[in-house]
Amino acid sequence: MNAPYVHPKIGPRAAAFLAREHKLLIDGKWVPARSGKTFDTFDPGTGRVIAKVAEGDAVDVDFAVQAARRAFEGRAWRMMTPNERGKLIWRLADLLEQNAEELGVLEALNNGKPFATARDRDVPGCADLFRYMAGWATKITGETLGISTPGQFHAFTVREPVGVVGQIIPWNGPLAMATWKLAPALATGCTVVLKPAEQTPLTALRMGELIQEAGIPDGVVNIVTGFGATAGAAIAAHPDIDKVGFTGSSEVGRIIVHAAAGNLKKVSLELGGKSPVIVFPDADMSVAIPGATQAIFANSGQVCTAGSRLFAHKKVFDRMIDGIAQQASQIRVGHGLTDGSQMGPVISQTQMERVMGYVDQGRAAGATVTAGGNRIGQEGYFVAPTILTDTKPEMSVVKEEIFGPVLCAMSFDDDDLERIAKQANDSIYGLAGSIWTQNISIAHKMAQRIRAGRIGINTHGNVDAALPTGGFKQSGWGREKGHEGLHLYTEVKSVIVSL
Ligand code: ADP
Ligand code: MG
Repeated sequence: MNAPYVHPKIGPRAAAFLAREHKLLIDGKWVPARSGKTFDTFDPGTGRVIAKVAEGDAVDVDFAVQAARRAFEGRAWRMMTPNERGKLIWRLADLLEQNAEELGVLEALNNGKPFATARDRDVPGCADLFRYMAGWATKITGETLGISTPGQFHAFTVREPVGVVGQIIPWNGPLAMATWKLAPALATGCTVVLKPAEQTPLTALRMGELIQEAGIPDGVVNIVTGFGATAGAAIAAHPDIDKVGFTGSSEVGRIIVHAAAGNLKKVSLELGGKSPVIVFPDADMSVAIPGATQAIFANSGQVCTAGSRLFAHKKVFDRMIDGIAQQASQIRVGHGLTDGSQMGPVISQTQMERVMGYVDQGRAAGATVTAGGNRIGQEGYFVAPTILTDTKPEMSVVKEEIFGPVLCAMSFDDDDLERIAKQANDSIYGLAGSIWTQNISIAHKMAQRIRAGRIGINTHGNVDAALPTGGFKQSGWGREKGHEGLHLYTEVKSVIVSL
């Protein structure tokens, strides 16, 4: 094949990274896949190949698991004091910030998101989460227990690292997803085999280099790039992995649960969503309109918590739709490395076809395309911000996660909160939701009634390190980030001492 394409805006540091060989990180060494195979990775803004990456499979996963097991049992990591672990994690956060420009370029290039977003939001957000979890490293505690058994006892609990963890992540926020997984695992003292998504391996590999530079011991973090059906499946099924953490589609989540049953490894899942944005007639339109616009179009709609179902009261429905359509028309859609781009492409040809297929299904089922509905240009995978009105609960566009810039808008003409909540809750998913009103009582009553893991009141899509995120219903198992997020990576041990 021809030499990979080099985007003119990429800069010397990112260019130097791209020019390196992209191998697997196993036991602190960069090694090719045992099979010798590689696969291409693309720039979704042009559709061109930008690098070749080692194609790890079950054999490589097994080496990585052995390395992670040795690191877990070894003194370097096990005997490290929590404050030393915290310092290393903090150092990694510093390194991410110091390399924000390069990481931002690579993220924009491989994922498609605007460079400014990647550099100024994603990278600092990752640094923040690593620091947040670095702080917890010294604060992982158990309890002392009141014992009723006759006799004299002292009893307490400790939280110990769950062990070797496999982590399988998606492509929508490659650095952020790697961080959501790695930060709590490192803080608790686990060791890791991480598999980035096959579409977006690059920034995780760069992070791997920074993990080494930070001084995190060899074998603590191993990175195996490769495909889901091979490397991913091998992680989910591996008998010596104690826990698997997965973020991705509900379909693959189900496969992982089955695969994990072999050794009954612990499983946490962050899966799909179809999150409601509920706008009451008294909402401040100057907040609700940009809020709802961002909720669906941020990251080209490729966000598991995207506000993809709008429910607006009849009195404000037209104003909401006009306002969102107006804002959508002003979003500058373009290549992630083009100055001023505000929305990038979707991740791949397949994803673009999926999204356009949903728009067609919506049209065929009677929905009206009020904005967008089309691909933009012929190069790269750009989809116009799209609003579908006249959507009904039974339509596939309303029921299924599209994972693209497509909003399904519905109205309600009702003051009964139970009925409004019932509509909003009419989904197999329960990841997030937002409520837009100035009435504090309605806001809290609705927050109680929405069955979802994260509720915004006059806000949507917050990603603060302290806010647990995860799903009710088929949106997943467990909560990531926040103090809760640590619990996914610890086992509770109770100790009872007869005095
Ligand atoms: P998408 O279809 O949007 O790419 P997926 O849920 O398929 O989303 O992918 C999310 C992650 O899960 C990726 O890292 C992918 O490689 C991985 N994956 C896909 N299929 C499997 C599988 N059968 N077993 C384990 N991991 C998988
Ligand atoms: Mg898939």
